[in-house]
Amino acid sequence: MIPAGRHSRQERFAPIGASGQAKIAASTAVVVGCGALGTVAAEQLARAGIGRLRLIDRDLVEPSNLQRQSLFSEADAAACRPKAEAASARLQQIAAGVIIEPLVADAQPSNVAALIAGAQVVIDGADNFPTRHLVNEACCRAGIPFAVGACVGAYGLSLTVLPGVTACLRCVQSELPAAGDGPTCDTQGIIAPAVHLVAAWQVAEALKILVGDLGAVRRELWAGDLWSNRFQRISLTKAKDPSCLVCGRQATFPLLTAGDDPAVVLCGRDAIQVRCGPVNLETLGKTLGNTVMISSEHLVRWQADGITGTCFRDGRVLVQGVSTPAAARGFCARWLG
Ligand SMILES: [Zn+2]
Repeated sequence: MIPAGRHSRQERFAPIGASGQAKIAASTAVVVGCGALGTVAAEQLARAGIGRLRLIDRDLVEPSNLQRQSLFSEADAAACRPKAEAASARLQQIAAGVIIEPLVADAQPSNVAALIAGAQVVIDGADNFPTRHLVNEACCRAGIPFAVGACVGAYGLSLTVLPGVTACLRCVQSELPAAGDGPTCDTQGIIAPAVHLVAAWQVAEALKILVGDLGAVRRELWAGDLWSNRFQRISLTKAKDPSCLVCGRQATFPLLTAGDDPAVVLCGRDAIQVRCGPVNLETLGKTLGNTVMISSEHLVRWQADGITGTCFRDGRVLVQGVSTPAAARGFCARWLG
């Protein structure tokens, strides 16, 4: 039940109005990645009265997140809560009328279509370019608009993909940056205002899409640096590439058709992610005995030989304290079989 007048100021904004508000309330948005951009965007969408919000994140809340990831508290970090769950709990306090679907999951070629299914818009909250491009492919194939955003340091950028209409992310960035090539929040740091700038650009675009005002959707890439005060607007009206591998006439969807990543070095954490088969967390908690540090309905964390493993219900294991995927796989094989 949504209290009367809750969205009155937004309805009074002429381009939205009562009819636009009704469309927003009947819509589903998916936020892929519930870190800095994802939490800020999700809060704005929940407050705007979105009908359904699916939050996807694979990671846990840590103390270093709290400076910019606006839905999380120190208690969430102390409890190592999954970000999707912690964000969902906070959003239900803010806007109880919104249906929130938290999914503790990692977007991969095998599951990304299901993760975004049913959405009218997808918000990019990914912390790496391979995931961003994977979601771009899934959105283009499914015909779902995609509000792209990225930020690091004091810098951020944003563009909007309307499949079949505008350039897609791959048209603009035909080669994926190699791992370790680009700056990350770990190497360059980040300030919260850059996050809010980019999330605002993304959610404004999402609202235009949800109310059906596609003519107002921005056909430019916007980038800005809040510290050096440099801003760029790059027209994308001629950027759509007919030979694009994702949105061109002979699209091959190179990332969607590749296999899932067996091991991933995670940005923002000193961790390597390994995939094991489905697990029974209750049994695992008992098997690992006195090495267990945390055992909850979401995860089991254990520590041995100076290495920490965190196993999730979907079979992913984050391994901290090793330097190579092979060492991470070895640790999992030793303890999980
Ligand atoms: Zn394209």
